[in-house]
Amino acid sequence: NTNEMTIVFDSRPVNEGMARIAAASFCTQLNPTLEEVADLKTAVSEAVTNCIIHGYEGEIHKIRMDLKLKGREIFVDITDQGVGISDVKKAMEPLYTTKPEKERSGMGFTFMEAFMDEVTVDSEVGVGTSVHMKK
Ligand code: ATP
Ligand code: MG
Repeated sequence: NTNEMTIVFDSRPVNEGMARIAAASFCTQLNPTLEEVADLKTAVSEAVTNCIIHGYEGEIHKIRMDLKLKGREIFVDITDQGVGISDVKKAMEPLYTTKPEKERSGMGFTFMEAFMDEVTVDSEVGVGTSVHMKK
C-alpha cells in the first residue's frame, strides 16, 4: 500500500507555492486533518525556500521533491544540487542563519521539525542538500 510522486522544478520563487500545493493535494488520499495538511505545507515551503535562497543563492537550477505514502505515513524529500551545508547540526539550531542581512530569522529547520515527526538532512559542500521529512 504505497504511492509515490516526484516533481522536478526550477528554483523560482513562484514554484514554492506550486510545490506546497502539490504536496498537499498528494496527501489528501490519506484523508488528513486540515491541521496535518497545513503542517505539511509549511514544512515543504520552508525546505523549498531554503533551496532557492541558500542552495542556489537565487540562481535558477532544479529542485526535486519526492513524495511517498506508505500506510498512514507520508515521506517528503526535497533536494537541491547547490552549495551544500558545512555544519548541518549548527544550521538546524533555532535562530541560526547565514543570511541575517536578508531578513532571515533562522527558524526554517525549527519549523520543519515542529510540524513534521522526523527531519533529517544530508548535505555535502559543493554537492547539494537533501532534506528528508516524515509525518
Ligand atoms: P528562515 O528560514 O527563518 O527564513 P534561514 O533560512 O536562514 O531563515 P533555516 O531555514 O533554519 O534558516 O536554515 C538555517 C541555515 O541553514 C541557513 O541560513 C543556511 O545557511 C543553511 N541552509 C538551509 N538550507 C540550505 C540549503 N538547501 N542549501 C544550503 N544551505 C542551507
Ligand atoms: Mg529557511
